[in-house]
Amino acid sequence: MNRFVLLIAGCCLVIMTSSALAQEQATRMKGWLIEARSLLDLDPQDTTEAGLRQLVVAVQDAPSEGQLKALATLVESGLELWYWIEIARDESMARQHPEWMSSIQGHPEWRRFHPAFPKVKENEIVKVYPWVPVFYEEALQAHLQKVNQLLRQWPAPHGIFLNDLQGAPTACGCGHPLCRWTSDYGPKKSATRLGHGQIPCQASWAFRIGGTVCNLRIG
Ligand SMILES: [Zn+2]
Repeated sequence: MNRFVLLIAGCCLVIMTSSALAQEQATRMKGWLIEARSLLDLDPQDTTEAGLRQLVVAVQDAPSEGQLKALATLVESGLELWYWIEIARDESMARQHPEWMSSIQGHPEWRRFHPAFPKVKENEIVKVYPWVPVFYEEALQAHLQKVNQLLRQWPAPHGIFLNDLQGAPTACGCGHPLCRWTSDYGPKKSATRLGHGQIPCQASWAFRIGGTVCNLRIG
């Protein structure tokens, strides 16, 4: 079973029904992050002995009957339920909409790791598989629908984590895997760029990134 002690990292967005408490809640968390498929193997007694307060389930697909039953038992044992939802690193969406994937434009330094990579022609663009960031209007709407659907399919959680809301690794062309500031850094476009100041903040669900609080329409 894959099981991770949950650490609250800056790369992940915490959403609670009462966002003002998100930061305080995060500091009080003691939970395990597990894949949904591991629900069937998780013994509630193990979580009790570990002193867990939260169970964070990584969800990407609709639950099975068995998963729902196991989840209900775990929640009844006193665990607070949270979900971890991957946003930008979405292989399925990347395959269905390669035009929404980040590109590598701008700096050429990434080529030092791929010296044999062909020279790009005028009508070609290099993409960063499988990264589909919310910095494109089309991808943002698709991710909102994805999150909405998951929250309808799974039991109501106490809160959710949205992972990978930044741009794609090395999309500026620098070659650094932790460089996540952009989804494109050049003139070629294959989707509608929102720009960092244009990510919609509209209603319903509140979230916090660092010291910034804004709202995201999920519900
Ligand atoms: Zn960079």
